[in-house]
Amino acid sequence: MGRERYQYFVERAKSTLTYDPGWSHDNPTGTWRTMRPIKTDAKCTSCDLCWLLCPEGSVSRGSYAIDYDYCKGCGICAHECRAGVIVMEREAG
Ligand code: SF4
Ligand code: SF4
Repeated sequence: MGRERYQYFVERAKSTLTYDPGWSHDNPTGTWRTMRPIKTDAKCTSCDLCWLLCPEGSVSRGSYAIDYDYCKGCGICAHECRAGVIVMEREAG
């Protein structure tokens, strides 16, 4: 393997290595979102499903407020909410 090619692979490997411990709080996933969960006026039954099933932990238990810094817009909360409280809308812009 030539020197240049070797260096290329070394640089590529560096970009895939993790040097420090981290946590998801450092990586807001809300910037990926193309769809946004919106709460309607429908009556929430406090079933906890949105809180329980959100893969990003973006729903607060009790208030069921959505943290848009980390919500990635997957729509699971809206799909699972039997009361129709949460609907998905396309992000503006
Ligand atoms: S859309 Fe997905 S990531 Fe966002 S609050 Fe609902 S379940 Fe969580
Ligand atoms: S899934 Fe719907 S009804 Fe259940 S707690 Fe969440 S918002 Fe309320």
